[in-house]
Formats: sequence, C-alpha cells, structure tokens
Amino acid sequence: MMKMRDMESFRQRTLAKEIGCEGIGLHTGKQVRLTFKPAPENYGITFRRTDLPDSREIPARAQYVVDTALATTLGRDGVRVSTVEHCCAALHAMGIDNLRVEVDAPEIPIFDGSAQPFVRLIQEAGIAVQRAMKSFIVIRRPVRVGDGNKSAELSPANGFSLRCHIDFRHPLISNQEIGLDCSAANFCREIASARTFGFLKDIEALKNAGLAKGGSVNNAIVVDGFSILNPEGLRFADEFVRHKALDAVGDLFLLGRPLIGHLSIDKSGHALNHQLAMRVLSDPHCYEIVSATPSEMARIEATLPAFTPAEALA
Ligand SMILES: [Zn+2]
Repeated sequence: MMKMRDMESFRQRTLAKEIGCEGIGLHTGKQVRLTFKPAPENYGITFRRTDLPDSREIPARAQYVVDTALATTLGRDGVRVSTVEHCCAALHAMGIDNLRVEVDAPEIPIFDGSAQPFVRLIQEAGIAVQRAMKSFIVIRRPVRVGDGNKSAELSPANGFSLRCHIDFRHPLISNQEIGLDCSAANFCREIASARTFGFLKDIEALKNAGLAKGGSVNNAIVVDGFSILNPEGLRFADEFVRHKALDAVGDLFLLGRPLIGHLSIDKSGHALNHQLAMRVLSDPHCYEIVSATPSEMARIEATLPAFTPAEALA
C-alpha cells in the first residue's frame, strides 16, 4: 500500500501563483514577456500568444509541432510559438501538469540558453498540489526511429531515465555520453543549467539569413575551430551532451504526459525526438496511459518514478 505522503506526490501540480519575466528572443533579438499562469486540474500545458489577442491556446503536444529546424515550434491556425523545448524540459522535470504559458512574441525567451531560468521561475512561484491524480504515459514496448547514424528509442523501464550520446567532428566536443535517472533533483543538478551551443560559422550564416539575431555568448556556448568563445568557459566539461539530454526531456514532454520509460538517443535532435514522440502516439500497443489512482498504482507500482514531493522543490 502506498503511504499518504507518496500519494500526495502523484497528485497533479500547477503553480501557486502567476509569475512572469522578460528575456531576449533568440531569433528576433527582441525583448519577450513570458508569463506562467496557474491552470485547473486536467487542463494540461498550453502556450498562447498575447500579441495576437484572437489566437487560441496551443496544447503542448507533439501533434501541434509545426517545425523542428533549430528549435521545436508549436503552431495552430497559422500562429506559432517557437523554442518551447527548454521551458517544456523544466515543466517535465518539475512535474507540472497544468499551466498556461503566455508570450507576447513568436518565441519563448532564450534567457541563458539553458532550462535553469525556467526552473527558478517555477521555484519562485511555488508548486500547488491539486486534487486530481496525475496520469503517466507508460512505455510498454520498445519504439525506435532512426535517420542514418542517428537514432532515438524509448523502451519500458522503472521511472524515467535517459542515455544520450553525441559525436561531433570537433576537438572540443567529439564523443560525449551521459546516463541519468531523470528525477527532478537529478535534472536540476545535472542538466538544467547546460546551455545550448552553436558553431561560430553557423551562427554568422544564420544572422546573415536574418535568423538568430539575439544569439550571443550570453545565451549559447559559441565554439569556433579550436576554442570556446565564452569568457566564462563551460559549466560542465561535457555541457554539450547534457544540453542534448535537456532538449530531449523537453521534446518528449510533448507526448502530453509525464513519461515512464527509458529514453536512449544517439546524435538525435529536435526532428528525430519529435519523430519518436509521433511514432509512439501512432501505435497504442506501444504505450499505456496510467492514472495514479490507488488501484492503478497498485497494479503498476513497480514502474512508477521516484517523484519528488512538491515541498522539496518549492
Ligand atoms: Zn536546446
């Protein structure tokens, strides 16, 4: 039988109050206002553009992904919200089920290029535990997608864990690998602050094409042929692979529910992460939606993640 305290950590969560802040948009280079608004139980996560007053909320679900080049972009009725992945990674890891995310621009602010600022916003607002129980997407059969030497796979597991491998032809990056039990505490300690990265020549090409106007060493690790241009250096020796893991935690949150399974990605990016989510959702034999009610919990107890109590995260 689950203890009362354990039951409490499987209830749905939103934020205790509305909270907002401003940051630069990576692509527009303009100031963006981001607001997190508490939402009722069973509402889910949605994104909305407040600069387009008539636009509808866009559910944070893989079916609404309209672009995966450079970042993950959600869209509905022609309205887009770009670069949702770092925000989604923080919400996934912190166990937030219901939230309305508003921005007054076509993209979520990039902040420092990591998920840390989103984690801090969640902690500053505080977590409110709701009455309804969470529901999880539990992987029942392995699902794999590949593209050349890149791959992404989900398989059955206890809790949510991941393994990520990258191999860049660059002396400062080359082969990096990380394995992680993706609890909130591990996410916060090991990958939340890992920043996105780019190669100087690519960033210059993007800027010439009118993209990445806000991109700088303030919101990305910038690498040229042999050196890292950020004066402060790296936050982890293997910050690159940690960031790829962070992106995947965000992209897989678009399955629509917290994940119970093992994620293994090799040189994957937003496009392949999205393909994996869509492949899972297209085959009901691959997964099961499990509500954390006492009877369901007793049935699948062995596969539940070690969920951090809300008060430990606030
Ligand atoms: Zn990223």
